[in-house]
Amino acid sequence: MSVQVICPNLRCRRVLSVPDDVRGKMVKCQQCQTSLRVPMLSQKSQAAGYGRSAPSSGSSANS
Ligand SMILES: [Zn+2]
Repeated sequence: MSVQVICPNLRCRRVLSVPDDVRGKMVKCQQCQTSLRVPMLSQKSQAAGYGRSAPSSGSSANS
């Protein structure tokens, strides 16, 4: 599996495919030789603390 990163060099902006095990490390753009850091795995499944809104359906009906 490979990771795709975009070269931060605005004059290059080349999409680089780097191996998965270089996450968190520095790689060099093959085109412009700019060093860039491959981001770590982004945690998508972060559902903790989400969906906790104010209780709407309760037995607190004030008549
Ligand atoms: Zn580049």
